[in-house]
Parts: sequence; C-alpha cells; structure tokens
Amino acid sequence: MIGSPPYTRRLLLGRGVGAALLLPAATCAAAGHRPARTPAHASHAPLVVVDPGHGGKDPGAIGVSGTFEKHIAFAAASELARQLRASGRYQVALTRHNDVFIPLEDRVAIAQAHGASLFISMHADAVDDHSVKGASVYTLAATASDAQSASLAESENAADRYAGPEAADVSPQVAEILASLVRHETRVGSAHMQQHVVAALGHEVPLLDNPARHAGFAVLKSADIPSVLVEMGFMSNRHDEAALRQAGHRAMVATAIHHAIDSFFASDGQQARIIG
Ligand SMILES: [Zn+2]
Repeated sequence: MIGSPPYTRRLLLGRGVGAALLLPAATCAAAGHRPARTPAHASHAPLVVVDPGHGGKDPGAIGVSGTFEKHIAFAAASELARQLRASGRYQVALTRHNDVFIPLEDRVAIAQAHGASLFISMHADAVDDHSVKGASVYTLAATASDAQSASLAESENAADRYAGPEAADVSPQVAEILASLVRHETRVGSAHMQQHVVAALGHEVPLLDNPARHAGFAVLKSADIPSVLVEMGFMSNRHDEAALRQAGHRAMVATAIHHAIDSFFASDGQQARIIG
C-alpha cells in the first residue's frame, strides 16, 4: 500500500502533511517571521536554514564577562550565511535577521515552510562547570547521550518560557504515525551532517570531549529536515567566550561549517533531492 521511502516522503511532505500535522500551532505563528529567501545562482540549489539561537528578550547564556549568547550566535550565523551565499551553491534563509525573540517551534516551522534541505542551529551555551570548553554538535534524540547534554537541552528548551502558553506541543497521535515514515531517513541525514561538522570543526577549533552528542533539543524536531545544533563553545568558559567574541574565530567556525555543508550535499545529495 505504501510505496518506497522516497515516494512516501514526496507523498507526505510534498503536500505539507508533515508540517501541517507536526506543527499545528507554530506554522501560522511562523508566517509572521518569514524571512526573505536569497536566490542562489543555481535554480535548484538546496536551501539551508541557519538559525541563530535565542534573541530579543531571550539572551541565551550570559558569558563570564557578560557577553550575551544571542549576539555571538547571530554574528556567527550571519557570517555562515554570508559565506554560503557567496559560494553561489545554496539558497540561504536565516530564522531571524535582527535581535528578536522567536519561539523554538517557529524556528522549525520556518524551515518547514521554506522546504529547507538542511537546518543548522548555532549556539554557545553555558554549563555549571566553567572548565568545560570546546565545540560540539548535537542531533535530536529522546534520550540524551550524557547528563551534561540533557542539562543543556533542558535549559535550551526553556527558552520557550518566554513564548507564552500557546507554544505548547500538541502533536496528535496520527502525526506521530506519519512522521515515523520519514523520521528514520532524517535521522540518518542528521547523523551524517553531524559527522561532517565535527570533522570540519576539528581542523579549526578545539572540540569538547565526545563532540558528537545527542539530546532532546526542541529546535531539532523537524521530522523531514536533517538538523544539527552546533555548540560553538561555552559562554561559561573564559577561553571560549574570549574566542567567540573575535570575528576571526567566528569566521573560522563558519568556514568549517560551510565545508561540512559542502561535504553533506556531496555525499547525501540523493537525500537532499528527495527532501527538496
Ligand atoms: Zn543557546
């Protein structure tokens, strides 16, 4: 009754079933934040959505010397978007263009509404242990890979305390059944992207121990779009904060992610076409 996975994906996702059922509250809200799409030179260039964490009334983590994570995330995401556009190989959309608050599920909905082929959320969060430092890359999982990741996801998801009660997740059971048809392939793509980013970042900046981690980040919950969350470092660590305040360091991080995106689409091109 059900065809091959690619056919199923097109059937379900091409008609927006995934977005409509998975994000009933966020889809409409996201329309008000719809970012402008930048045309790429190639007409069928994949769309990468770059998500600067936090914003507006949500500062994110506050660094040891007072730096707001939201500013670091936006500066790094803007640099990545600039590099991707300059390459002429991608369409690029940012989830926010200035210092505004956007609920986590709206960020997912923006990527859904644009038919994104890849979603990258950029952060520099904080942990209690100020000696913890280095970059890491997260994928979505119901169970966190470690206690620190669980704590990070919990504090990250708490960003929606700013959003009000209408942001609650009310996915119906049927949405879960449909989503399971596409979720596996998306997980595989997310894991591949994670490995590409870890490898590329490892050439440029210090990494956290076990840098490929997973946890229940709400912003990674697209059923149909490979999604990763890059922790560029920790605002709670003096060295990471100082580095991330430097444009040159952020450019290195962005270049590494850019290379990882190139590798992802080179090796996962078939998947990107199916999704797109
Ligand atoms: Zn964050």
